[in-house]
Amino acid sequence: MTDVAVIGAGLAGCTAARQLSEIAKIKVYEKSERSGGRIATRFSCVHQFDHGAQFFTARSSEFEDFLTPLVDLGCVARWDGRFAEYDGAQLVRQTEWGSSPPHWVGTPTMSGFVERLSDDLDCVFNVEVARAEKEKDRWVLFDTQGNLLGDYDWIILTAPAPQTHNLLPNEISFKSQVGLIKMLGCYSLMLGYQRAVNLPFDAALVKNANVSWISVNSSKPNRKNFSMLVHSTNRWAEHNMNTDLAEVQGKLFEFTSEILGFNVKSADYVETKRWRFANSVRQTDQPFFLDRDNQVASCGDWCMRGRIEAAFLSAKKLAVELLKDL
Ligand SMILES: Cc1cc2nc3c(=O)[nH]c(=O)nc-3n(C[C@H](O)[C@H](O)[C@H](O)COP(=O)(O)OP(=O)(O)OC[C@H]3O[C@@H](n4cnc5c(N)ncnc54)[C@H](O)[C@@H]3O)c2cc1C
Repeated sequence: MTDVAVIGAGLAGCTAARQLSEIAKIKVYEKSERSGGRIATRFSCVHQFDHGAQFFTARSSEFEDFLTPLVDLGCVARWDGRFAEYDGAQLVRQTEWGSSPPHWVGTPTMSGFVERLSDDLDCVFNVEVARAEKEKDRWVLFDTQGNLLGDYDWIILTAPAPQTHNLLPNEISFKSQVGLIKMLGCYSLMLGYQRAVNLPFDAALVKNANVSWISVNSSKPNRKNFSMLVHSTNRWAEHNMNTDLAEVQGKLFEFTSEILGFNVKSADYVETKRWRFANSVRQTDQPFFLDRDNQVASCGDWCMRGRIEAAFLSAKKLAVELLKDL
């Protein structure tokens, strides 16, 4: 069997690995302690926060078909939230989310369905691949300490574009194209409360402000204990990417309190996360990258658009193409 190393256990990495596992021997390397990537959930003692992706929609029949068994298993459910739009601090629109289109979330955590997908894969967690070198027609991977991880016929890189670009050796045909893909940062502010706060929405899109999104995380199916999630705009995050995290948190308190009309700093639990590569700016005209001569491929949301469905489709399309080669 062909030996394949997949770098990254986000949705794209897990999808590619599962699609190819019947015809190849796959090993997945993930630098975090669990799978999910930017589909992520963080816990305090009593609260949980989906601090990366918030929800997803399914526009393609391929993604719908993928979701159906996960819905049946209870790993994915509809979030029929009360939706609001703000223009600055002004509430300008309120609607109910229904079935057209459904807004899906992982349950009981956002990342749970990706963890389920990785359950029967050979994943190595807490290992960052730092270097990939070609030796005698085989790919040899090393970790950050220079330890040898293994050697493979093919490697598939699924990390965000700038990280994939850093890992790709110069001779790879698509390296320069990946280098052109810019990804934007974002900050997540997590707010946990002992007592529920009365808000006119479960999910709110905010325009003309430095905050782009405020949601009641605990309004998603099967969540406990009142928690809120705030995202900065990409623009504000990019301008403040190197600002001290405590200062960023102070600013996010200020922006959010102004919109909601009360001081969010009084939350019982607070945490802020910096996402250096949250979303991709550019859509390319190819859903994945492939260098057949060197036996290297790359996929991920950033090949198409910065969305969960795109991560799945990019990996699925790459796997269909690779099935011809392996
Ligand atoms: C704040 C935020 C909000 C978002 N909101 C939404 C939303 O509401 N709806 C939506 O559809 N999408 C949203 N997205 C985008 C969505 O999360 C992504 O499109 C999707 O998760 C991308 O999946 P992926 O597998 O392509 O990449 P990732 O999830 O980034 O997976 C890549 C994996 O590679 C690992 N990795 C990286 N480098 C290495 C290395 N050297 N060695 C080993 N492992 C490595 C990473 O740890 C990660 O697990 C959001 C993202 C963020 C950050």
